[in-house]
Amino acid sequence: MRTPLLAGNWKMYMTVAEAVELVQTLLDNLEMVGDREVVVCPPFTALHPLSPLLSESPLQLGAQNMYPADSGAFTGEISPVMLLELNCRYVIVGHSERRQLFGEDDTLIARKTRSALEHGLTPILCVGETQTERAAGQAEMIVLGQLRAALGDLAGEQVAEIVLAYEPVWAIGTGLTASPLDAQTMHAAIREALRVHYGTDTANEVRILYGGSVKPDNIDVLMGQADIDGALVGGAALKADSFLRIVHYHSTSS
Ligand code: PEP
Repeated sequence: MRTPLLAGNWKMYMTVAEAVELVQTLLDNLEMVGDREVVVCPPFTALHPLSPLLSESPLQLGAQNMYPADSGAFTGEISPVMLLELNCRYVIVGHSERRQLFGEDDTLIARKTRSALEHGLTPILCVGETQTERAAGQAEMIVLGQLRAALGDLAGEQVAEIVLAYEPVWAIGTGLTASPLDAQTMHAAIREALRVHYGTDTANEVRILYGGSVKPDNIDVLMGQADIDGALVGGAALKADSFLRIVHYHSTSS
């Protein structure tokens, strides 16, 4: 059984004061979520003040990025060791905004994925096609290519630790969502690729999140799909009421 995971990617939003207020409202209103994991990924500046608030709570802490070295002359970067010191359990890797706006390539994303695993952080590895690639019928080829490049020569037991996020680029922050069927089709293709490369057990263990304009009104049907194991949520994670509704989803099939 894969434990569903709902993760909020706050991007470059939220001052420390706003972050603390949002987390306090989430903690005050979270219902029983023992059957699912809930993660917030605030900006780096809010990790330190949030860390003590989240310890012993049902909310877990994740980072939005990291550099694959323990320390060194890497101006502006944050290491996995620093994230662990703040009790981060998760780190987003390969988000399309990092690929597109900051030039992150497959090689760097593979290094980040490996480094996170080596430090005991769970990478939330994002893959997804652009609108043009989808229109050209290349969506699956692109997504599986990104996956292959990021996983490289990792062993099956390492791959089983990773959380994947299928995030069609055209659906991120646009209000457009992949239909539950299109999302399920891609998730099934990803799981099949994992099965071919790493075997059935690993493929069945890996959680695959959907991301791209997930909202209170589409989460239930998305979570009703066989291969959708959770959501990576951007905009709707910035408001307590919408993120709480997403976290408290009731899955329904389409
Ligand atoms: C994201 O940032 O990963 C994301 C999916 O954003 P949004 O939910 O706003 O589309």
